[in-house]
Amino acid sequence: MTLANQVIYFSEKEQTFDSIILYMDLDAFFASVEIRENPDLADKPLVVGGNPKTKQGVVSTCNYKARKYGIHSGMPISQALRLCPHLTMVRGSYQLYSEVSKSIMNIVKHYSSTMKVAGNDEAYLDLTEIASDYEEARRLAVELKDDIFATERLTCSIGIAPTRILAKIASETDKPDGLVVVKPLEITEFMNPLKITIIPGVGKKSAESFSRKKIYTCGDLAKLPYQLVYQKFGKYGLKTWKLVNGFNTENTGEKFLSSERKSISEERTFFDRYQKWENIWVQIDSSIDTIIARMRVKNMSFKTITLKIRFKNFETYTRSHSLSSYNITEKLVRTVVQKLLEEFENKKPEDIRLIGVKISNLKKIDNNQKTLTQFF
Ligand SMILES: [Mg+2]
Repeated sequence: MTLANQVIYFSEKEQTFDSIILYMDLDAFFASVEIRENPDLADKPLVVGGNPKTKQGVVSTCNYKARKYGIHSGMPISQALRLCPHLTMVRGSYQLYSEVSKSIMNIVKHYSSTMKVAGNDEAYLDLTEIASDYEEARRLAVELKDDIFATERLTCSIGIAPTRILAKIASETDKPDGLVVVKPLEITEFMNPLKITIIPGVGKKSAESFSRKKIYTCGDLAKLPYQLVYQKFGKYGLKTWKLVNGFNTENTGEKFLSSERKSISEERTFFDRYQKWENIWVQIDSSIDTIIARMRVKNMSFKTITLKIRFKNFETYTRSHSLSSYNITEKLVRTVVQKLLEEFENKKPEDIRLIGVKISNLKKIDNNQKTLTQFF
C-alpha cells in the first residue's frame, strides 16, 4: 500500500473532550517530609535512600537543590556523591511517609469521589461532575493545595486538563508548587514548545529515533503529516502524534467509573449578589432531583447525606448525616439538607458561593426486597 492511499480513521470520540481531570503530585515527597521534620536540611542538597554509612544503594528521592547537580531518583548513591561530594544523605522514615501519604490522600478524596491513587505521592481526580468549568476546577485546585499545606506543610504540583495524560504533563511543566490548567482548545499551543520526552512512554530509545528525524519538541512532531509519522514510527508514533495535535487519546471516563461509584453529588455555584434563600432552594431542589434520578438509574439506595457550603471568602464547610437504614427518597434528602443548613441560617444568602449535596454509603437494591417500597 502506498502512503497516498493510507487512510487513518479519526473517530468522533478522539475529537471530543468531556472530562476535567486533576492530577496532583507532591513535590520531592520523601525529601520534603525530611526537611519538614528537620528544617536545617532545607538549604542542603539532600537525598533520601541508600545507606549513609556504606554509601551504597540508590537515590529514592532528592530535593530540588540536589537536582541542580543532576541527581535524580533511581541513581546509584555512588554516582550522586561524585556529582555532589557534600551531599546530605538520610536513610528515610518510611513509616512516616506512609502516614503522611494516607493523610494527604484523605484530603484529596474530599474533592471528588472519583479518584485514582497513582502512587504514595500522586493521584488523579475526576472533577467533571464537581467543577462547572475550568475556572471552578482551578479554584478547587488552589483550595486543595492550601488544604494539603495547612495540614501537612507540604507543597504539591497540580495539572488540570481534559485527560489524565495531559493533566500529568501539565503538572510537570511547573514544579515545585505549581498549578497549570490546560483547556481543550489550548492543548496544541501548550504542547508545541515542550520537549518530546515529557510524554510518558517516550523514553531514551524513542527520543533517539525521534531526534534522528529532527523531532525534539512536541511541535516538531505535530507538524508532520500523520501518514509519514505512521510509516516511520508505527502505531505508537501515531498515538503520540494525535496527543500533540490535541486529539483525545484516552477514554477518560471509563477507567475512573469502572471502580464502584461511592457517592453521587451535585453542586451549584452562585454569583448573584442579590441572592435570596428561595432561589438557593430552587437550586438545591434541582440538585437533589438530579442526584436521586441518577441513583435510581443505577438501582441504588443511600445511607449518608452530605451538605457542602462555600462562602465568598472560600471558607468551605461540609456537614454529613447518616441514616439508620438505607433510603431512596428525595424527600428525606431535602429534610436532612434543611436540617444541616440550619447551622448557616444566620449567614447572608448573597455570601454563598456554592452549595453541594451528596449521597454516599450507596448500596445496590435487591429487587426482591419489598421493604424499600414503603419509603415511596
Ligand atoms: Mg512527586
